[in-house]
Amino acid sequence: KPIQKHPVTLRRGNRKLLSPRLSGISLGVVVREYASLSHLHKQYFGFPGEILMRMLKLVILPLIISSMITGVAALDSEVSGKIGLRAVIYYFSTTIIAVILGIILVMTIKPGVSQTAEHIDRAGTTPNVTTVDTLLDLLRNMFPENLVQACFQQVRGFARPSFILLTLSTHLNESPPCFVSWQNITKDYKIIGTYSDGINVLGLIVFCVAFGLVIGKMGEKGRILLEFFDALNEATMRLVQIIMCYMPVGILFLIAAKIIEVEDWEIFKKMGLYMVTVLSGLAIHATICLPLIFFVIVRKNPYTFTLGMAQALVTALMISSSSATLPVTFRCAEENNRIDKRITRFVLPVGATINMDGTALYEAVAAIFIAQLNDYALDVGQIVTISITATVASIGAAGVPNAGLVTMVIVLTAVGLPASDVTLIVAVDWLLDRFRTMINVLGDAYGAGIVQKLSKRELERMDLTSDVDVANP
Ligand code: ASP
Repeated sequence: KPIQKHPVTLRRGNRKLLSPRLSGISLGVVVREYASLSHLHKQYFGFPGEILMRMLKLVILPLIISSMITGVAALDSEVSGKIGLRAVIYYFSTTIIAVILGIILVMTIKPGVSQTAEHIDRAGTTPNVTTVDTLLDLLRNMFPENLVQACFQQVRGFARPSFILLTLSTHLNESPPCFVSWQNITKDYKIIGTYSDGINVLGLIVFCVAFGLVIGKMGEKGRILLEFFDALNEATMRLVQIIMCYMPVGILFLIAAKIIEVEDWEIFKKMGLYMVTVLSGLAIHATICLPLIFFVIVRKNPYTFTLGMAQALVTALMISSSSATLPVTFRCAEENNRIDKRITRFVLPVGATINMDGTALYEAVAAIFIAQLNDYALDVGQIVTISITATVASIGAAGVPNAGLVTMVIVLTAVGLPASDVTLIVAVDWLLDRFRTMINVLGDAYGAGIVQKLSKRELERMDLTSDVDVANP
């Protein structure tokens, strides 16, 4: 189906999003100014937002399973292979473009040259993680040994539970969040959030692709299963529709709670130039690079397409998680931008897990920024190493908050920078994470639009040959 614009729905959807955002900011500023809330009261204040996050996360599992299985089974293996290949080429090339853009910007703006690492407070310590470890963990994750366990895996993004946890010291007021490996956890640490969203998405995707391919070849017998998963998908999307009614309230409180919670606004001055570098890179990628590629291939207005994704982009900005935004991404892509379900079901879940242009750009900028802070001259070989490891690290990062910051360690180690220096940039990561997640989601959506255009012929041929279309009933 062609990508069409839906001006009325879009305008209405965008207006619905604007008001909670503005009210959230005002509410946050007012409460911050006039009420001095205790740590506990701040938590209560953020509660409605927390509920939104929980609801979105709740539907990830049935959504990924049902969409991947039906998506793959509805296509014949040759077509799904072609679509998969196109998607992977798109993911890979746009990620590389993002990394190169980031490197050019950070080498031109030089945000770390005017100050040194000593001027910035470090937050905690990090264990060493090597590129090989990350690659091996990525592969381990692809083949979970237990399917049920994969649905509530303890350490997100990495299979080995020996890695990193995001923890807060028990002295809540004294120390900011820091990274600690499993082995180093002592009673001094209180875990406030583990590096886990509870789902090994990559492992599930690999299983669902294989399962979908098998079902697709089983004929009549497979049809029952296919119809089951199709109905599951439909039911989950209806749930998403209900969750979206609650979204304005959740978003309002998420923003307000964050404004109240931030204690150190001063850090933004210190890290200003670094943040400007990352944010301008993300902005250029989102408004020039991706739209240009889209326009050249799809020949449609890319900005109308971006507008169609507005709700998903705001959600990503608010919750810093591509995986938890996935339900909204699906809705926007299918309903506003009219992308064929056979494409979205196949391309979006994979994209949310491995296609992270924003994260890759951020990792490259951050690594070179840290090198500049340390007065560490990088040669061409090291810059190439940074681009390769930043790409790998972005693929390895799960679609969850701060994942990019954690996989950053491999980029630093690869060029001989101290892994512990990742703690220099922790303080501003919560904000940058939101923007890079937004670009990650936008990249996935553009990918679906582009792959649909490139696969038009195969999809039309399938429409002609199949009498019943399970994916697009
Ligand atoms: N939060 C990002 C995402 O979910 C990953 C990252 O930390 O860069 O896409």
